[in-house]
Amino acid sequence: MRVRAAPAAVAGKSSSHLKVRCARVTAGRGGVRLSAAPSRMRVLIVEDEPDLLRSLTQALQEEGYAVDGAADGETGLFNAQNYDYDAVVLDVMLPKVDGWEILRRLRKTKKTPVLMLTARDQPKDRVRGLDTGADDYVVKPFDLAELFARLRALIRRSAGRTSNVLTVGDVVIDTGARQISRGGQAVALTAREYALVEFLALHQGEVVTRTTLYEHLFDENESTLSNLLDVHVSNIRKKLGADFITTRRGHGYCVGGGE
Ligand code: CA
Repeated sequence: MRVRAAPAAVAGKSSSHLKVRCARVTAGRGGVRLSAAPSRMRVLIVEDEPDLLRSLTQALQEEGYAVDGAADGETGLFNAQNYDYDAVVLDVMLPKVDGWEILRRLRKTKKTPVLMLTARDQPKDRVRGLDTGADDYVVKPFDLAELFARLRALIRRSAGRTSNVLTVGDVVIDTGARQISRGGQAVALTAREYALVEFLALHQGEVVTRTTLYEHLFDENESTLSNLLDVHVSNIRKKLGADFITTRRGHGYCVGGGE
């Protein structure tokens, strides 16, 4: 009872941020550009928005995954319980059985890594998902680069392999433990600061726009006109070094490059 979504054009779900490169890009120097998907990893996508299911299916297939799609919770739960997937990408709001219930029932029998797709206006979902046994989450609207990176890290972790570590200069980001160290010393960041650093590190060498950062890291009621982002950036610079995050005026921020 596998539902396979027909391939279709990727419907504008790719990265929304400008691919402006940082000056003197150092991405990859001692760092981890999480590599391509291991061959024929099988992933189940449970998502009821047809366009998103189609575009995700095609995008993951292009990354080398074997993909099954389920357009409602009942089918998704059945597939997740009855087939062995390397990972499940699970939407929260689903017809018939919602994502929480699927996760709860799946965890009774299986440890399949689950990446939740949570809504931006439901911040509590993020915590709830991790409490319920989700392995990670991305917040809609997400960009594909982030989803791929998280999915690869999650599959690697579950397979007992390295490496969920991103390195930017002397800053090491453990995306599994969500901890950061600089020069070997642990650095305490708030959850929001951590999320900002991780997001920039996942896109290291690229300039990420303020709009993209707000979309991915802040709740809808947190105005993009506020100086919240500046405050976080300033605090991060105090903790990780003034040159850790580069400001590209009129464009955004980046790490892993320098100027
Ligand atoms: Ca949905």
